[in-house]
Amino acid sequence: MRRTTRVTPLVGIAEKPVVSPESATPMGLLSGMGFSEIGFLRFAGFFARALLRNARALCLKKALRPLLPAARRRGKLIRMSKPFAKIVTTVAIPVATPWQRRWWLFHKRILPIGSTYLGLVLAPFCFSVSGVALAVVLLYLTGLGVTVGMHRLLTHRSFSTHRWLERTLATLGALAFQGGVVDWVVVHRIHHAHADTDRDPHTPKDSFWRGHVLWLFVYDPRVAVESLKQRYVGDLLADPFMAFLNRWSIGLQALLFAILYGAGEIIGPRLGLSWAVYGVFVRVAVLHQVAFLVNSASHTWGYVSFETRDRSANCWWLALLALGEGWHNNHHAFPRSARFGCRWYEVDAGYLPIRLLQALHLAWDVVVPTPVRHDRGSGPLRRG
Ligand SMILES: [Zn+2]
Ligand SMILES: [Zn+2]
Repeated sequence: MRRTTRVTPLVGIAEKPVVSPESATPMGLLSGMGFSEIGFLRFAGFFARALLRNARALCLKKALRPLLPAARRRGKLIRMSKPFAKIVTTVAIPVATPWQRRWWLFHKRILPIGSTYLGLVLAPFCFSVSGVALAVVLLYLTGLGVTVGMHRLLTHRSFSTHRWLERTLATLGALAFQGGVVDWVVVHRIHHAHADTDRDPHTPKDSFWRGHVLWLFVYDPRVAVESLKQRYVGDLLADPFMAFLNRWSIGLQALLFAILYGAGEIIGPRLGLSWAVYGVFVRVAVLHQVAFLVNSASHTWGYVSFETRDRSANCWWLALLALGEGWHNNHHAFPRSARFGCRWYEVDAGYLPIRLLQALHLAWDVVVPTPVRHDRGSGPLRRG
């Protein structure tokens, strides 16, 4: 019921409250509470629409949830539409339980690294010259898979090539056994986006050993959760072959082990184990340490040619070991450049194969710094 109080202006004495006839309706009641009719109708419509939208979204997500793969279900966020977001904000399904985190660390980090170093124990007992030669050849090929394939091509798109060659280089990179190909690219793109800040996965700014190896045993949802990973490598995940390589990196290594073992057994007596151990365990262990040094040493030691916002440096001995990856300050200054060596004496063994591919018309749109940018540290990139 609407109550009105009239005040006599001159005297200022309140009259007795009266009840108006229109105040008996619900509209009148609401109007008495401060709502106008139009305002009420707009509010009711807005509320009903928001309710319908969210009910529909939630029902749909609930219905689809059993169909989603387990890994995607875990990282899924249910976002409320705007009006409700103010009231309910965001309903988040936990990203990962402690067991899920442990499982991720086990099969992505501990199992590959642990098996490599356990297998290394066998090396002195099955030495052979052919085994060492095989390891060196495979070391070079998988090293190219890392620096040319996963780094310069897939992470930075420093050049373009045919799909079959891109997939071949990615497969060689996967055989480097440094996590899945897609995971490797995620980590490296995050590294460039937040180099030497607290958000950098492997900065050595607080501890050399953390940047070298310990960071591998820290769960990082940006790498582990599919929906978060999508932000960094949506382009790669669109290719089912890359997703396959990422998922089956251990299986691929096991397949190589079996092939080397079989081939060695066919060629000569007791060569099978030697080829398998040197071609897989010894090669991967050496490759791991060189790659770890790129993260730690090249952000710790060396000279600086260009002003960057991080601690990257040019480390000559690492550049020789890591096919040019040691020219790390140059690389941070020109991340998209296919060429890491900028001075005549900065030999970049990873750039030579790209030049060869370019000469054979198997690579094009090769990005290198223009002379202006090269000298001043700014300016556009030139495609050569
Ligand atoms: Zn770096
Ligand atoms: Zn890079």
